[in-house]
Amino acid sequence: MTIEQAASVDTSRALFDRAAKATPGGVNSPVRAFHSVGGTPRFMVRGEGPHLWDADGNRYVDLVSSWGPMILGHAHPEVVAAVQRAASAGLSFGTPTEGEVLLAEELIARVAPVEQVRLVNSGTEATMSAIRLARGFTGRRKIVKFAGCYHGHVDALLAQAGSGVATLGLPTTPGVTGAQAADTIVLPYNDIEAVKAAFEANEGEIAAIITEAAAGNMGAVAPDPGFNAALREACHTGGALLIMDEVMTGFRVSKAGWYGLEHVPGDLYTFGKVMSGGLPAAAFGGRADVMGKLAPSGPVYQAGTLSGNPVAVAAGLTQLRLADDEVYRRLDRNARLLGELFDDALTAEGVAHQVQYAGNLVSVFFSEEPVRDYAGAQAAQTWRFPPFFHALLDRGVYPPPSAFEAWFVNAAMDDAAFEVIEQALPHAAAAAAAAKEDGQ
Ligand code: PLP
Repeated sequence: MTIEQAASVDTSRALFDRAAKATPGGVNSPVRAFHSVGGTPRFMVRGEGPHLWDADGNRYVDLVSSWGPMILGHAHPEVVAAVQRAASAGLSFGTPTEGEVLLAEELIARVAPVEQVRLVNSGTEATMSAIRLARGFTGRRKIVKFAGCYHGHVDALLAQAGSGVATLGLPTTPGVTGAQAADTIVLPYNDIEAVKAAFEANEGEIAAIITEAAAGNMGAVAPDPGFNAALREACHTGGALLIMDEVMTGFRVSKAGWYGLEHVPGDLYTFGKVMSGGLPAAAFGGRADVMGKLAPSGPVYQAGTLSGNPVAVAAGLTQLRLADDEVYRRLDRNARLLGELFDDALTAEGVAHQVQYAGNLVSVFFSEEPVRDYAGAQAAQTWRFPPFFHALLDRGVYPPPSAFEAWFVNAAMDDAAFEVIEQALPHAAAAAAAAKEDGQ
């Protein structure tokens, strides 16, 4: 047994017991509860660079990066200083501030099809608002989404969603009424024929297609070449809008997000995560004629008490300004290195697997076949994941606690961090090889 395996998690366990009394499931977002992998969720107390420390003093190389936002690593000194300056000038005013203009201009400068943006507080708010706007603009009701794509917990978008909905194996969720889901058409990802058929069957009724610009919430599943372009074509022929959800990919996979890797313009975009610097901020934006329909310019209502919060804006703006070409080179390199290490370790143990990338999002599927859609992700041998996960966790690596999530590298990962991963992976691969389908 390694020292790491012997490390105590008593404090985390005690905190989780207390949390379970105060909060449903003990967490404020389901995947954090470790349901699909078992064991004790680690309560973190500190992050710095590529590392997190839990309440028992154990250190981890973090491969979650707060589910995407922390591209520079944790507690980057310049981001922290910007937050401290902003906080000491006042936490919230409920008035416009210059920082909001600067952040909006930064987003617009990076993603060419985005002419105007509106700041909100979470990715969920961004997609919910983009859909309302698309319906208001087109005067249509129906929305197309893809199975395995997650767009936040918007009622109309939870059908066959990825992320935590996939992790918990929920077909959809109670609390969403038939009426709220009735206007949502769910299609297989990467299936353009299904999209064409949906437009034929619902002529004049589809307001928008919403798609992850590259899917990251069923694991990393890049769009097939030409898929996003075909979506754009289908939307424009059918009089609908294309909403590119870049909450996960935006400003992570390149300076301009997925748009920077594949120049297929959407009509509307949603952003979050990286543009927030780790604080609660998100945005939606796009064509000026569409965005102009938002209140107070137009009739589609959307608002927020804390939207454009000065402290969150300072964090996001500072992180984006620090994210230069070198940062993106490091993110890309770190994702490839991680993928190669997965590959080497699993090949050595003879475990069938696919290392998949969507830009610098990376994930590993225990599958003989490349995964192109949600059915493929579900068909993988996900029962190999919990022992794989725990062997890494026990050896100081913090992986996403779900087989259906992408792994998020950060630019702060150095040789020492990779050394920890490299030491841990052979044990994880052996654990995956030894796993049994019934979990015994
Ligand atoms: N859209 C995508 C593609 C996401 O990955 C997420 C969150 O993971 C969301 C929307 C929702 O964002 P939030 O969790 O900030 O509400």
